[in-house]
Amino acid sequence: MIVNLDELKKPCSCKKNHDISVDQIIIEAGAIKALPELIKQYAPQGGTITMICDDNTYQAAGHMVENLVENLYIVKLPSEDLHANEIAVDQTAALLPEDSALFLAVGSGTIHDITRYLAWKNNTPFISVPTAASVDGYVSTVAAMTWYGFKKTLTAVAPVCVLADTDIFMKAPYRLTASGISDLLGKYTAIADWRISHLVTKEYICERVCDLESQALETVCNNIEAIRQGSKEGYEQLMYGLILSGLAMQMVGNSRPASGSEHHFSHFWEMEIINPPLPYYHGEKVGVGLALASKVYHETKEQIRKGISLKPYEGIEKELIYKLFNPKNLYEEILKENEADPLKEIDLDAFQEKLGAIADIIEEIPSPEKIIEILQAAGALYKLEDIGLDASAYDISVQASCYVRNRLTFMRIRKLLDL
Ligand SMILES: [Zn+2]
Ligand SMILES: [Zn+2]
Repeated sequence: MIVNLDELKKPCSCKKNHDISVDQIIIEAGAIKALPELIKQYAPQGGTITMICDDNTYQAAGHMVENLVENLYIVKLPSEDLHANEIAVDQTAALLPEDSALFLAVGSGTIHDITRYLAWKNNTPFISVPTAASVDGYVSTVAAMTWYGFKKTLTAVAPVCVLADTDIFMKAPYRLTASGISDLLGKYTAIADWRISHLVTKEYICERVCDLESQALETVCNNIEAIRQGSKEGYEQLMYGLILSGLAMQMVGNSRPASGSEHHFSHFWEMEIINPPLPYYHGEKVGVGLALASKVYHETKEQIRKGISLKPYEGIEKELIYKLFNPKNLYEEILKENEADPLKEIDLDAFQEKLGAIADIIEEIPSPEKIIEILQAAGALYKLEDIGLDASAYDISVQASCYVRNRLTFMRIRKLLDL
């Protein structure tokens, strides 16, 4: 299938000009055969075509690309301990030839984040060849990086084209596919966070973008069985859902439509504040974060329905932040991130009257039992123990994870309630 991008670029009632920088997205078996033609189009003067991959993704797809593309320069990174961080970026930059006309990102999320950042830095276009349906960030314009220990989204560029070859990405280890499903399911809480924030602070929101995420969610939920049975169509639909979610981010210019408190949990654990390094994929942590967020949100919703009062807000919890983040030398960074306290933007009198409407938005999120049922059906991880944490991580993650990002979520808004 070829994803229809024109539809998304049409004038929108939100008044924002929805820029889509990716030209073409093909999701089908044999999609990479389009590479030679596209290379002519995007590197018309010739020049070096540089493929960025790792040992595993070279095996999965890199060698096929090598057969299709003449004069290919290969940057093959070691798969072991490869993360989207300053180390991998420096390592890759040192291996790049001087005169690359075009990059090819052949890999999953990590390879794409490294490539999109370097593509932006070097002002070089890149074509994406995903090797797994594992994340929704393939067409993202920002790179999700761990930069000197701090989880950050850095300015980067989206690919000019995506060639998602079903024959390639459906052969990825199933754990990666399950991660993709979890990453997409995370949109349930991400969208609720966006809607709640819009309600209480008038933050910009776009209904078309929300619809796109809902469509992505529906697509994945309808195809979980098919995916588990190894159906090509099911895998294509999952990739389509992931791409739609990525396009939603591109239309807004940031990750707001796709990342809320479920992602903050994941970032918090990735920063290794209360835990050692967790050898689990992004989507796996997001899935566990989603199950937690749904539980907290629904429990709080019940309290709201019963009647709840506000408590005086005393600003961000500096003592807690110091205790947690200072040992990692991240105290100053976190303070800086929270300098403009998003809770201060809320008019408390008006907020009280909106509690009912907030509860209604939370009602739209599937219950924690339902979320766990979907994750289980997908063969995905869903509880703290699944990712090497234990029950003792629960309270502190609920309390502190919101501070990793200056983005208003209901997880943070709860701090205004006398629970
Ligand atoms: Zn719009
Ligand atoms: Zn994600």
